[in-house]
Amino acid sequence: MATALVRPWRCIVVPADSRVGSVGAAVHDLTRHLPEPEVLDRCPTCGKDVPWPCRRFYDAAYVVSAAKLRIEDFVPPELHPRLPKPGPRTTPTRPSRAPNEENHRG
Ligand SMILES: [Zn+2]
Repeated sequence: MATALVRPWRCIVVPADSRVGSVGAAVHDLTRHLPEPEVLDRCPTCGKDVPWPCRRFYDAAYVVSAAKLRIEDFVPPELHPRLPKPGPRTTPTRPSRAPNEENHRG
């Protein structure tokens, strides 16, 4: 029986009034919408048909970046080449849109 790879996690606690703590909800969304190790181009939280990075990840990444935190510090290295580039908030450009993306918000 094959065993699927599951991403290991580590929980940390930071002061609520620290830079990370002030955007804790966005950091939570950022990590909640990461792909699984064996399926790097899909968001398992939004749905198996939703490409990664998903819209929720983009929104969280914007908030984290606006707090002057590096998205790379919250994301596994194999995903760094696919991260949105920092800069002014724009509509994300993606290669394709899932047909029922609006029904897969997580
Ligand atoms: Zn997602």
